[in-house]
Amino acid sequence: MTAALRHLVLVLGDQLNSDASAFDGFDPAQDAVWMAEVREESTHVWSSKPRTVMFLAAMRHFALALRRLGRPLHYRWLDDPDNQGSLAGELRAAIARLQPQRLILTAPGDWRVLQALRAVAAEAGLPLELRDDRHFFSTVREFAAHAKGRSSLRLEYFYRELRQKHGVLMEDDGRRPLGGQWNFDAENREAFGAAGPGFLPARSQFPPDALTREVIALVQRQLPDHPGRLDSFAWPVTREQALQALGEFLSERLPLFGRFQDAMWPEEPWLYHSHLAAALNLKLLNPREVVAAAEAEFRAGRAPLACVEGFIRQILGWREYVRGVYWTQMPGYLEHNSLQAKQDLPPWYWTSETEMVCLSAALRQTLDHGYAHHIQRLMVTGLYALLYGVAPAQIHAWYLAVYVDAVEWVELPNTLGMSQFVDGGLLASKPYIASGKYIQRMSSGSYCRRCPYDPAERLGERACPFTTLYWDFLIRHETLLAANPRMVMQVRNASRLSEDERAAIQQQAAALRSAQGRACPSTGAPGSVSEP
Ligand SMILES: Cc1cc2nc3c(=O)[nH]c(=O)nc-3n(C[C@H](O)[C@H](O)[C@H](O)COP(=O)(O)OP(=O)(O)OC[C@H]3O[C@@H](n4cnc5c(N)ncnc54)[C@H](O)[C@@H]3O)c2cc1C
Ligand code: SF4
Repeated sequence: MTAALRHLVLVLGDQLNSDASAFDGFDPAQDAVWMAEVREESTHVWSSKPRTVMFLAAMRHFALALRRLGRPLHYRWLDDPDNQGSLAGELRAAIARLQPQRLILTAPGDWRVLQALRAVAAEAGLPLELRDDRHFFSTVREFAAHAKGRSSLRLEYFYRELRQKHGVLMEDDGRRPLGGQWNFDAENREAFGAAGPGFLPARSQFPPDALTREVIALVQRQLPDHPGRLDSFAWPVTREQALQALGEFLSERLPLFGRFQDAMWPEEPWLYHSHLAAALNLKLLNPREVVAAAEAEFRAGRAPLACVEGFIRQILGWREYVRGVYWTQMPGYLEHNSLQAKQDLPPWYWTSETEMVCLSAALRQTLDHGYAHHIQRLMVTGLYALLYGVAPAQIHAWYLAVYVDAVEWVELPNTLGMSQFVDGGLLASKPYIASGKYIQRMSSGSYCRRCPYDPAERLGERACPFTTLYWDFLIRHETLLAANPRMVMQVRNASRLSEDERAAIQQQAAALRSAQGRACPSTGAPGSVSEP
């Protein structure tokens, strides 16, 4: 197949669904598929080994599936001797070799990648046809129409629109929510209590097959200094495995998902969460089938409405909402820093070597598995970075690097908007800030009991760093926060501090930053991280 090639269908590492719009009208006699493993996707941020293995293993399994479907495929391996190292370089070489008349691409998940591919197409004078990603409930155009004319964006309104439009958890009239309310958040905030979670269903595990083992060896060879471990890699990397993981979640964990959605417990990374984000983001699962299956569990009486609504809200609500925010705000969204945060990321984020027990646990499981659940991301690692004042570009690069489910369209708004509140309140109506007492409450004291610090103390040797930095944050941003009606109580509490206490808190926070900011001798990691 040389000069006669009609369409070259470009498939990226997070577009692994054979029913993607890019395949509409695909004719194996005239068209071909292009996929490329490139080093740049693991180095533009210091991507963890589990994340790189997740993408490459899923890509290689998808390549086999395409071959079984009889779709001609040009696949470039990471260790091909003449691999160009970047998507742009590889595409340029493929165009020269294959001479297609047209390039076809489903809208990618990353603004940077879209610009790079567009530039190559323009340089080659080839049309690049960009097709809608049907893998989402909404289009970016729909989100833009929803956002138009609104002074602020809020998940709740968009979520309700989507529920009505797609008839999800609705009464027969299509207007009223099932159970008489849209939101069951108040029922979904329990901790486990002092006795802990007790018996927990096992996580779905998929021991690496020969193909994945090859990828693991390749990543160990090619990216030996990258963070993270691979000895317990067990993520679903095919559609069949992802469907099995979905089935096991629905039957074993969904009925308690909502109730313990925000709970934490040491040595228990998986709890009642679905662990499906990577499968969804790589398109091994379609969010429509996941939402429909969860609703069916409620209708069959196997899972309570509060749990099912809590789960569906994450996918039909947050997932669609952050995608709309990303694509309507890029590329400017990357530049946000409304809190003027400028500290370097503490180096132990890359090693988990900190005395703070809650942080060390969240970081360790992140490096071991490429996974932490939402509250660990938002209220442990994210909260600490926010209170500490980490520069948004650095904390964004970290989140994009370490999780197996990390793709920029979903990671960036969650990090900059929801977690770091540096987008001027565009995505969230208030910063998610709390002292160490929040972590103590949601983990029923299980971390704090083992920690050298005390979450109730803000000053002195035993002061919990979260608590010191929380009060410091309120003092530093008092004027900004005072203008936010949802922050009135917290600002009022800070205003009751004496001048001496304020000065002491600020002094302790400064000392903490200066001690924690020192380079970590065992890795020198921050120097290895390229700015996005
Ligand atoms: C700072 C920060 C960074 C994040 N980065 C990512 C990321 O790179 N990729 C990613 O998929 N999610 C990200 N999230 C959202 C969320 O934390 C993860 O989707 C979730 O923890 C994945 O675990 P799970 O599959 O067990 O999710 P569950 O708790 O089982 O939730 C079910 C599904 O809902 C979706 N979901 C849940 N919360 C969100 C959310 N806030 N935004 C979008 N979708 C959501 C996911 O697809 C998830 O699989 C981030 C959150 C924060 C606070
Ligand atoms: S005392 Fe503070 S740092 Fe230690 S575990 Fe509790 S919240 Fe975390």
